[in-house]
Amino acid sequence: MIITQKKPVEELLGMLEGVTKVAVIGCGQCASACQTGGEPEIQAMKELLEQHGMEVVGTVLPDECCHKLLVKRDTRAIKNSGAEAVVCLACGDGTQTVADNIALPVYPANNTMFLGQVERVGIFNEYCRMCGDCILGSTGGICPITKCAKSLVNGPCGGQKNGKCEVNPDNDCAWILIYKRLVELGQEHKLGETRSDKGYSGAAYPRRVNLREKK
Ligand code: SF4
Ligand code: SF4
Repeated sequence: MIITQKKPVEELLGMLEGVTKVAVIGCGQCASACQTGGEPEIQAMKELLEQHGMEVVGTVLPDECCHKLLVKRDTRAIKNSGAEAVVCLACGDGTQTVADNIALPVYPANNTMFLGQVERVGIFNEYCRMCGDCILGSTGGICPITKCAKSLVNGPCGGQKNGKCEVNPDNDCAWILIYKRLVELGQEHKLGETRSDKGYSGAAYPRRVNLREKK
């Protein structure tokens, strides 16, 4: 899930300076689960904007704000609403998808934080940095790129203390976790295996996946 957090209100209002009529778009997927872009948040945003003198001329909640065809369909009503700008309560992906589909300024109400695991309602943990070349098979299913503060992929930096990371002692050292997991799995030999350089060419931006292309 893509984890988002609300931007400070002052920041959003600053972007909307001079705007009198505005539309609000949420997202029925990740942003709803993050309590940043569902129906309650759309209503709260509407009230906030009205309190600051703006007229909210339309609200939309696409099932997924990162889905081009859904957004295209669901933003039709906004195109003729008289809105001068759109406030989008989705992630950066969803906000750009809206901006691609509507010839109005689109302003993000959220900051996009990370790709995360839902631990329980309202609690999210960063788990993957989408490197494009997954090495979880050699690290016991624990991602050192995400869980190590230095993203070290060939072992620890040596700075850990009592199993905690030297950069942020609130966090466990990723490589201590990896070591323990590999021991549990009977795979500690993997720590001594020579691996080819990780390489980050698979993460050169922007990336595109096209399942229709011939292999
Ligand atoms: S190795 Fe790369 S793809 Fe695999 S979990 Fe870590 S960041 Fe994600
Ligand atoms: S202490 Fe562990 S998690 Fe922290 S930077 Fe060093 S190797 Fe990475």
